[in-house]
Amino acid sequence: MQKYNPEQKMAEAKREFGEHGGVTPSISRSCTFSVMEPDTMPEIFDGIKTPDKGGCFLYSRHFNPTVDILARYLAAMEGTEAAVCTASGISAIASTLSQICKNGDHIVSSDTIYGGTHALLGDLFPEMGITTTFVDPSDTAAFAAAINPETKALYTESVGNPTLKTSDIKALSKLAKDKGLKLIIDNTFSPVMISPAQLGADIVIYSMTKFINGASDNIAGAVCASKDFIYELMDLHKGRIMLLGPTMDPRSAYDIIQRLPHLPLRIREHSRRAQTIAERMHEIGAPVVYPGLPSYNQYELITSIINEGYGYGGMMTIDCGTVEKANKLMSVLQNKENFGYIAVSLGYFDTLMSCSGSSTSSEISEEEQKKMGLSPGLLRIAIGYTGGLDERIAQIERAVKAVGLV
Ligand SMILES: *Cc1c(COP(=O)(O)O)cnc(C)c1O
Repeated sequence: MQKYNPEQKMAEAKREFGEHGGVTPSISRSCTFSVMEPDTMPEIFDGIKTPDKGGCFLYSRHFNPTVDILARYLAAMEGTEAAVCTASGISAIASTLSQICKNGDHIVSSDTIYGGTHALLGDLFPEMGITTTFVDPSDTAAFAAAINPETKALYTESVGNPTLKTSDIKALSKLAKDKGLKLIIDNTFSPVMISPAQLGADIVIYSMTKFINGASDNIAGAVCASKDFIYELMDLHKGRIMLLGPTMDPRSAYDIIQRLPHLPLRIREHSRRAQTIAERMHEIGAPVVYPGLPSYNQYELITSIINEGYGYGGMMTIDCGTVEKANKLMSVLQNKENFGYIAVSLGYFDTLMSCSGSSTSSEISEEEQKKMGLSPGLLRIAIGYTGGLDERIAQIERAVKAVGLV
């Protein structure tokens, strides 16, 4: 396990207070900012006098004071020089990859990724002349073999959606450095639990819609990286975030600023409950996959990369074999047992469950789903932390028995 302590790092970040001495920051909703001396305007435009260089804010699609506070806290958590927030996770991914890759370039990506990202890389990017080779994320040698002279980036999720395969971030980082490529990690499933930049990733991406916000009421994303790369994304001439415009609203930023302090607490509780439920499922012979079970086939790898004290996360799967059986189980869990809700997404305080093959991974063809080991009956469960844990265990135990899984 890693000794990195993201909670302590966040606590060490310069704290922002509100007007009138408020313990919470004020929301700065202004789109534009007055420049005190007109002759500084060109310097602000040229990036010479940005807010962090003794200048002032210019326009909120560029930088906004409230959104900047959140970005600073996120950079502190990850241990990167800087960060930028976006309107969604997918726009953080699209902006980052299209900043690095131009027409003719190539990406080597994990095949076990969020369906929207798979569509972006496999369907949309080829129309812009950017191609991708998809490989098994647990097979670092496959990444190496797929690299060609046009390759610019390696892309993966630390814990892959939805089959929960772990990527060997340290080995991938070494490979990327050897070949002069950028390693980009989507860490949406494992904030604070895994700190990819500490393991050698160049760029860490989040859909903050999930665990980081934690209340399923904000669509949001972030990119954590070097100051140079963040400024490249915000460049007035070629910055993909600046010019494609997926700007975060300061009100969303404020909500997430208020929830970030209890992210570590929430992750610990998601993990504690998921671990207990997964152990019980394993005990009664249900086909459960959870990274915290010794039966998980990359248990040693994931144990070596997680930060101590946060457990193995809130995500688990139960392979029901067929869609029909997965639907039946979800229906019993929601409508009879009140265990959780049939809904896509994750990181909510209530349990959310979906059959990945026919929902969040439906952009991926049946053939590719088979190749990546995604069974049509794979039920993805994002364990929440409401209700009594003993009662939750009893509910899911009754449900898997009722549909004949055990
Ligand atoms: C949800 C998700 C995304 C996309 O994020 P949005 O905030 O919905 O745009 C990207 N990656 C992963 C792993 C996700 O779960």
